[in-house]
Amino acid sequence: MIFLDSAATTPVRREVLEAMWPLLTGDFGNPSSHHELGESAKRALDAARKSVAASLGCRASDVVFTSGGTESDNLAIKGLALAEPRGRHIVTSAIEHEAVLESVDYLARLHGFEITVLPVNAAGLISLDDARDALRPDTTLCTVMYANNEIGAVQPIAALAELCHAQGVPLHTDAVQAAGWLPLDVAGLGVDALSLSGHKLGAPKGIGVLMVKGRRSLEPVLHGGGQERGKRSGTENVAGSVGFAHALALAETDRAARALAVAQLRNDFVSNVLERVPAAIFTGPAVAGTHDHDHDHAGAQTDAQAAADGDAATPTLVSTPTRLPNNASFCFPGTSGESLLLELGRAGIICSAGSACAVGSDDVSHVLTALGIDEAIAQTAVRFSLSGDTTAEQLATVAAEVETAYRAVRSLSQ
Ligand code: PLP
Repeated sequence: MIFLDSAATTPVRREVLEAMWPLLTGDFGNPSSHHELGESAKRALDAARKSVAASLGCRASDVVFTSGGTESDNLAIKGLALAEPRGRHIVTSAIEHEAVLESVDYLARLHGFEITVLPVNAAGLISLDDARDALRPDTTLCTVMYANNEIGAVQPIAALAELCHAQGVPLHTDAVQAAGWLPLDVAGLGVDALSLSGHKLGAPKGIGVLMVKGRRSLEPVLHGGGQERGKRSGTENVAGSVGFAHALALAETDRAARALAVAQLRNDFVSNVLERVPAAIFTGPAVAGTHDHDHDHAGAQTDAQAAADGDAATPTLVSTPTRLPNNASFCFPGTSGESLLLELGRAGIICSAGSACAVGSDDVSHVLTALGIDEAIAQTAVRFSLSGDTTAEQLATVAAEVETAYRAVRSLSQ
């Protein structure tokens, strides 16, 4: 099997499982219990919180453990918007994950919020001018994702944070796909809240983090025993939190070097696929060797360069990459994404038709249509998402199998 679906989920890393094991077996206490087992669990939870804070460059008290990316997004958006007295207006983008779009929609339907949706250009990038125009005196929250799960587009979060703060508006970012690939330094990004999910970075499913700056008031979504300083009730997932902390620390180790290496593999893979299937459309921000879309970012660049952000030895770098290093997404006009997946699956290749997050959904991708891609073409999408373990040999095999699958599906549909 060749697994190229890391944006959907990742296996739990051995070191992570080993760190979790004692908390699931002998040291299994409830951190709220006032006996040795409970206190031991509390110490483990506190240490995990400190470790996450060190990875993100925030305070331990800013870290709220949740059940995953979806809950973190819900808590950030509902929690911040409902706690903020200055108005009922939210700014978001057209290509957010459903966890964001549905939370915002809930606030509009049940709490009378007005929503401004920022459009994206053909590459999937928002415009800072649009964002500046959208912010108003009654804007309670801006929520724009760091990196997109379908097309890998990376938004200019630090610049957006500056715009938001000039207007006194808090900024939340969904960084679920960015973890392990892009800098997560909270001070550098300037965000007020940031969502992460464990299962995208080598921790188990069912654990996540919401980083929310302490001075921000947050209306809880889950009410109960007041755990997580009253921000998220429910007995803490101690083992999951410890696993998350380990996975995040490991993902941060060698991040820049890994991102650079994976971006280079990805770029070669993209060129190979486009050579073999000239009719294929590479969707999202351009990479080396592909057609550059109509970017409106100053300093658009290849992410092979950008992935090394922070590497002082490389003087030509600018600070904002525009595409995740591990994402390669295409449309194959004249086919169907589902049929291509079946063909590739027969060849032992695991990838995805667009996003894996909408359960059983036949809907056309709102991300691809937001780029201006025709609905019929959007249904031919296939996303390959690499991991740090993906090899050049695997990618050469996959590119050849993509050509075979494309020909097979085309011949059936003619
Ligand atoms: N946000 C983004 C960008 C995602 O890609 C996903 C999952 O794919 C989520 C949020 C939801 O995360 P979780 O599966 O942990 O609920």
